[in-house]
Amino acid sequence: MDRRGFIAGAAVGGVVGVGATAAVLTSLKEKPAQQASVTPAAPAIVKDRVEFTMVSTWPRDFPGLGTGAQRLAERIGIMSEGRIQMQYFAAGERVGAFDSFDEVASGNAQGYHAADYYWKGKHPGWAFFTAVPFGLTYTEMNAWIRFGGGQELWDELAGDFGLKGLMAGNTGVQMGGWFRKEINSADDLKGLKMRIPGLGGDVMAKLGASPVSLPGGQIYENLVSGAIDATEWVGPWNDGFMKFYEAAKFYYYPGMHEPGSMLALGMNASFWGKLSKSDQAIIEAAAASENDWMMSEYNAKSGTALQDLIKNQGVQLRQFSDEIYDSFGEAAEEVFGEVQAHSDLSSRIYNSFLKARADVGAWTNISDQAYVQQRNRVLGL
Ligand code: CA
Repeated sequence: MDRRGFIAGAAVGGVVGVGATAAVLTSLKEKPAQQASVTPAAPAIVKDRVEFTMVSTWPRDFPGLGTGAQRLAERIGIMSEGRIQMQYFAAGERVGAFDSFDEVASGNAQGYHAADYYWKGKHPGWAFFTAVPFGLTYTEMNAWIRFGGGQELWDELAGDFGLKGLMAGNTGVQMGGWFRKEINSADDLKGLKMRIPGLGGDVMAKLGASPVSLPGGQIYENLVSGAIDATEWVGPWNDGFMKFYEAAKFYYYPGMHEPGSMLALGMNASFWGKLSKSDQAIIEAAAASENDWMMSEYNAKSGTALQDLIKNQGVQLRQFSDEIYDSFGEAAEEVFGEVQAHSDLSSRIYNSFLKARADVGAWTNISDQAYVQQRNRVLGL
């Protein structure tokens, strides 16, 4: 489906929700009609059956993010042989994208698929469990979460809000964004109204821009209408689908703000705690699997998508200069100072993250980075 198709689909909300939920459940062949009409007040766990309603921050069938979340919901159902009865709702089909947090924390739904940095207004620590400026790449993030103390800190933060998070997808390094004019110095960012969520938005604000956070389904209209001057979203595969080039031709890289954006399966902590060990293991395995599948697809499709944008859509590829990057770095230091000052937990998350960036980042230098640099130099890639 094309971008306009999913925008139109989102507008009819619940109708799409019921039909598409049935589609996700086709592999289960078990009472889709009754499942589609479950009420929020129904008990989440009945005997050995578990009802798991998943909401998300992504438009239905949106490539990578949406299809990944839908695949995760479907696979949990399949892996549990239907014992975990999944219902999946894309953004706007049950609640709005940014209402996913409250829907799950309150127990109205059991889980969400989202970027946890959308919740940084509730606590800045959430940003670290998606991506932060000058943060970790995909492989570095996995190392921190699984072996560097990241999951434990995530559990502590999420637990304070009645939630439990698991890694469930990644976009890899994101592009810097779409601009109507060239950005030749940090001064060119002043006064710019840009869609850029998370701590990256705070960095832009330090440089005089006005950051706004919009869910994916609302960016195109705001860019075309001139309500915003610039936007970041993900990378060539997703951004091309969104047709941002119709309103802004200058496409900058690399994005300092999201070097490996991890998506989360966030669950109601009480629901999670009542699951059997077997069901927990199934959900953990499905989420870990999706973390890998999604990243593989982004890596497989982004390079060719970028070439298509340049050759066929008149997109002008530009690299942020060192001078601009230095300004990003200075602004990020200020932002991180504020994050540390927020609370003890913020400070501990930041320090753990910092240690992982130093330890794993040093290894990245002499492993992935050194090898790829030499391979591409010799082969002229
Ligand atoms: Ca982004």
